[in-house]
Amino acid sequence: MEKRRGPPPCQSKAGCSNPAKIRKAKDGAQLCGPCFSKSFEDDVHETIINNNLFKVCDVILVSKNRSWGRETPVAEGPTTKTTVT
Ligand SMILES: [Zn+2]
Repeated sequence: MEKRRGPPPCQSKAGCSNPAKIRKAKDGAQLCGPCFSKSFEDDVHETIINNNLFKVCDVILVSKNRSWGRETPVAEGPTTKTTVT
């Protein structure tokens, strides 16, 4: 019986040793769950900063959308309100 190969190791720059579970569409890197979340947050942060999307005192609503869809324009999940400081 052929031995099944396990998942490749996480390709995080942080030198993580977890097995990769998700391929990031942006650059094709294969990452574990925690490294994917961190990488995604870093990308979003970079986009926000580079494009001056928010200013100090802006109020932001953050919502979890359970539908996974791209066709839901209105926040429908649990919503959190935060102020940029
Ligand atoms: Zn990792």
